Amino acid sequence: MNDKISQQIEDLRAELHQHNHNYYIEDHPTISDFDFDVKLKELQELEKSYPEFYDANSPTLRVGGEITKNFPTIQHQFRMYSLDNSYDFDDLEDWEKRIIKTIAEPVEFVAELKYDGASISIFYENGKLKQAVTRGDGFQGDEITANVKTISDIPLTLSGNFPTQFFMRGEIYLARKNFNKINKRREEEGLDLFMNPRNTASGSLKMQDSAEVRKRGLSAVLYQYISTEIPAKTHWELLQNARKWGFKVSDQAKLCNSLDEVKSFISYWDEHRHELPFEIDGIVLKVNSIKQQAQLGYTAKSPRWAMAYKFKAEKVETELLSVTYQVGRTGAITPVANLKPVLLAGTIVKRASLHNEDIIKKLGLHEHDFVFVEKGGEIIPKIVGINEEKRNIANKEIQYPTNCPECGTELIRLDDQAIHFCPNDLHCPPQVVGRMIHYVSRKALNIEGLGAETIEQLYREKLVENPADFYALTKEQILPLERMAEKSAQNIIDGVENSKQIPFEKVLFGIGIKHVGETVAKKLAKNYDSIDDLKNATAEDLIQIEDIGEKIADSIVKFFNDSENMLMIERLKSYGVQLVKGDSVTETLSNILEDKTFLFTGKLSLFTREAAEEMVEKHGGKNISAVSKNLNYLVVGEKAGSKLKKAQTIGTIEILDEQQFLNLITE
Ligand code: AMP
Ligand code: ZN
Repeated sequence: MNDKISQQIEDLRAELHQHNHNYYIEDHPTISDFDFDVKLKELQELEKSYPEFYDANSPTLRVGGEITKNFPTIQHQFRMYSLDNSYDFDDLEDWEKRIIKTIAEPVEFVAELKYDGASISIFYENGKLKQAVTRGDGFQGDEITANVKTISDIPLTLSGNFPTQFFMRGEIYLARKNFNKINKRREEEGLDLFMNPRNTASGSLKMQDSAEVRKRGLSAVLYQYISTEIPAKTHWELLQNARKWGFKVSDQAKLCNSLDEVKSFISYWDEHRHELPFEIDGIVLKVNSIKQQAQLGYTAKSPRWAMAYKFKAEKVETELLSVTYQVGRTGAITPVANLKPVLLAGTIVKRASLHNEDIIKKLGLHEHDFVFVEKGGEIIPKIVGINEEKRNIANKEIQYPTNCPECGTELIRLDDQAIHFCPNDLHCPPQVVGRMIHYVSRKALNIEGLGAETIEQLYREKLVENPADFYALTKEQILPLERMAEKSAQNIIDGVENSKQIPFEKVLFGIGIKHVGETVAKKLAKNYDSIDDLKNATAEDLIQIEDIGEKIADSIVKFFNDSENMLMIERLKSYGVQLVKGDSVTETLSNILEDKTFLFTGKLSLFTREAAEEMVEKHGGKNISAVSKNLNYLVVGEKAGSKLKKAQTIGTIEILDEQQFLNLITE
């Protein structure tokens, strides 16, 4: 029976690996998405029922869900070198001359695209993906295997005649389309936008939840085989072999017999790079013969047999039409240059970011200046210079405004930052809207159906001004909005209703107290049972809580001193929003610690602070945040400091080490 099940599981895995390969690597699916999902579900069910047949490379792992808290540091068996850079054909000719000095035979080159992403080293053993490690500093990197396994372009099992042990290196990148999709979504959720696909790709690889990595839609290309055992004479052959074993290898790579061929490859891609669905920042050239590579060797930081050719950022000249000042959802002001539309790097550019006042001053920007605009890795182009010869002397220098363009309030500029802010957070329109968008966002009250656009419309129609207003909305008020139908209106009403079940800590995060992020909100909810308790806390009380400093404490006190905020809180309360901690869901194991209060200090080694606090609660005790007469037990780890001293002076507090604490609850 078990043999039969095991066979069935193996067959399904093999079949699904093949379909994955057909779809992602060959670009030639032979099964419908639906049928694929049916088979995948079938496999998932079987694996759940028969965990004894677990396989670290099952296709079901593609969906992710594994959580990595800390990525272990791994030493690279083969160092991951940098590449030398060249910027023009003269540099390349010099490079070829240096090569010819060492090598007295003809030299072939492989020209490849220089993918702009994050490099990765993946170890395969017996045809199975074993370990994936980031480049790090080239000597050691972070192990991110679970996250890499979710990337469809990367094979989990190989086929054909592969060596038993080797590393494949390549680049993990984010296609432009997926990058834009992520940013669109972030914009809807009121989150900061990502700067460029490269940073987003490397950031995604370090997310703790691999299911989230999967959602980012990363791609990969493999471009280097590394091992002590080299089954070919040239890099080109190795690439073709890798393709046969199931790796995604670049279709654009080209074998060149001369530097002239290399040059035309470079010129072609310099012109056509914007037609690719992903970003490249240059071309990589590699000496083809493995023997020649070995003869050339390495410098202290890079192989002598490889060279990067960096494309110049494209630059065009155009006229500045005006400068406008956008007020963000947090009140930060961003100056934007509106330009006479011009073609740059394959797209029409109409705007460029000016970042802040200092940058405008440094450029010395005048009205209607002719400016040079450049597009680097960032999506928003920037102004890199001014053609002063074309300046009309009658045109005045750009003056930074003193007041908010949205609400007229005088702007402030923080000393340590170059950015201006509008301090009118309660009434400046973009900030009012931003606060409501934050309130409904997924990590806060998670009100589905209420997106940024709908909130903006509701605000324009004067139906909502702060989060409490959502609870007074009626379907009749919502229905007349643009693009609203019976069903979507009902969704909003239901979403608002359901948000009354969202726990206190998320509400605390959602009401938008400055500097109170998710983690701080959690800490506050741990220490205060209700919003009323929190409201009465002084800054001194709050500072006692771990990770809460003066800045956060002051901001909390200020929030509750504002009568409008208090009115909103009272209204939220009246609608039934959770402003009191619900019955704690922690199961109770005993009541040995009933009526006893605990505080942990110093570096704990037997368990984490969170785990310790949970144990206290499970045994009926209570955690408090400061040393006072109300404290019964202080549990001290290594390097306990002021809290221990204070407890000793109070005298009535029992001081325990970690083991003594454990004895207390296991008695
Ligand atoms: P740099 O970071 O400028 O020193 O360039 C070296 C990096 O280029 C490597 O770490 C890789 O991440 C990246 N790269 C992109 N495409 C390729 C390629 N085809 N071959 C080798 N490296 C590449
Ligand atoms: Zn304002």
